[in-house]
Amino acid sequence: MDVTNKPAALRRYKIQPGTNEPVESKKLMKVILTVLFNQIVVGLPFAYVSLWLMTYRGLQPIRELPTFHWVLFEMAILILVEEIGFYYSHRFLHNRYLYRVIHKKHHEWTAPIAVTAVYCHPIEHIFSNLLPPFLGVLLMGSHVATAWLWFSLAILSTLNAHSGIHPIPKYNHFINGLDNHGADVLGHMFNQCYGVLGLMDRLHGTDSVFRSTQAYSRHIMMLSLVPPREVFPDPDKCKSK
Ligand SMILES: [Zn+2]
Repeated sequence: MDVTNKPAALRRYKIQPGTNEPVESKKLMKVILTVLFNQIVVGLPFAYVSLWLMTYRGLQPIRELPTFHWVLFEMAILILVEEIGFYYSHRFLHNRYLYRVIHKKHHEWTAPIAVTAVYCHPIEHIFSNLLPPFLGVLLMGSHVATAWLWFSLAILSTLNAHSGIHPIPKYNHFINGLDNHGADVLGHMFNQCYGVLGLMDRLHGTDSVFRSTQAYSRHIMMLSLVPPREVFPDPDKCKSK
């Protein structure tokens, strides 16, 4: 969709219309190369170390599946552990020095597309993207099937969060007063929305600006097919001047 700009019917759901529509091939190539590097050069050794740690902890017999209720319970723990791990690692990356050296790369995209989810420095990929979802699995000693289900959901969630499309709620800290991931109205609010779900941000008050913007009213599950931008339009900027 980002490359072809089709189908037109779905473009109505763009959070920042006109941005990266379609995306420039040169920019996209740069993202793809970084993502492949993170997936292969960083991701594969990380998976190997994870397996080693899980084996050390004691792997569950692969042919005995956990019960459905246990999977649900574990899923709740995995989500919470990731929320905490991602919140603090991400907030830490916004330290003046670390931001300049590591995290700035991820924020090059102010109107992101799904594939930019892991467009970042390799150090960030390890500590912010790979470690937080894995920590819960290690803590709980999850069955490989539970781990795969969890990782798939976590990946879908981050792809949605970076897609720049709004059929389901977005919780990003790239907000700009329109929706998240942008820079034109209030400027980048780099001290906002570090978490995934918003639990930790509510706890630390790092969602106060986000909650005062129009983006927050759009931050809901839309049960109709009308784009959130049309249901909650931007306030008339001329009137306020
Ligand atoms: Zn950030």
